[in-house]
Amino acid sequence: MSNELGELIAIIGGSLTFFLFMVALICVGWRLARVFKSHPKTLKESSKYSADDARFMRMAIDIASRNVENGGGPFGAVIVRNGEVIATGANRVVPTCDPTAHAEISAIREACSKLGDFKLNGCTVYSSCEPCPMCLSALYWAGVERICYGNTKADAKDIKFDDSFIYDQLELDYSRRSITCNHFLRDEALESFRKWAAKEDKVEY
Ligand SMILES: [Zn+2]
Repeated sequence: MSNELGELIAIIGGSLTFFLFMVALICVGWRLARVFKSHPKTLKESSKYSADDARFMRMAIDIASRNVENGGGPFGAVIVRNGEVIATGANRVVPTCDPTAHAEISAIREACSKLGDFKLNGCTVYSSCEPCPMCLSALYWAGVERICYGNTKADAKDIKFDDSFIYDQLELDYSRRSITCNHFLRDEALESFRKWAAKEDKVEY
C-alpha cells in the first residue's frame, strides 16, 4: 500500500469517526432536551406571602388534614375573592366513587354555583397541593386570577399520588400513551361544530 493511499484511508476513517461522534452528540442532546422539556421545573418555594395568604392556605391545609380523618384524600382547596371565602373543597374521590372529585374541582363547582357564573374572574385558589393536570385545566377554564399551593406534585408522588405520570403522558405521541386513542368519523362529528358556529344566540366561554 502506498503512503498516499494509507493517508487517504486515515483521513476518511478520521472523518467518519468525527461524523459519527457528532451524530451521537446530537442524539444525546435531543434526548436530554426532551427529558428536560417533559419535566418542567416546579415553582421555587416563596417566602413572600401576605398574612391573608397564610390564613387561607392554612385553611386549605386544615381541610386536607380533616378530610383524611373523614375518609377522603389529603387535599383541600379554598377559593377567595376580594378577601372573602367563596367556596371550599375537599378530595372525595373514594367516598363518592368519583375520580373527578378533587378538592379544586369541588371548590370550583361550589363557587360557580354560588356566584351563578361559569367564570371565577378575580378569584384566588389556595390548594393544599399543587393542582393536578385536571384541576389545573379546570382552573384555566374557570379563569381564576391566581393559584397558590403548599405541597408540590413531587410531594404528592412520594405518597403515591403520581400526577407527574399524567404530565409525562401529555408530552408523548398518542401512539406511546398508556390509554389507546383512536380518531374517526370526523366529518360526522364536525356537524355539531357547524351548528355551534352558526348559532347566533350562543354564550361563548
Ligand atoms: Zn386534581
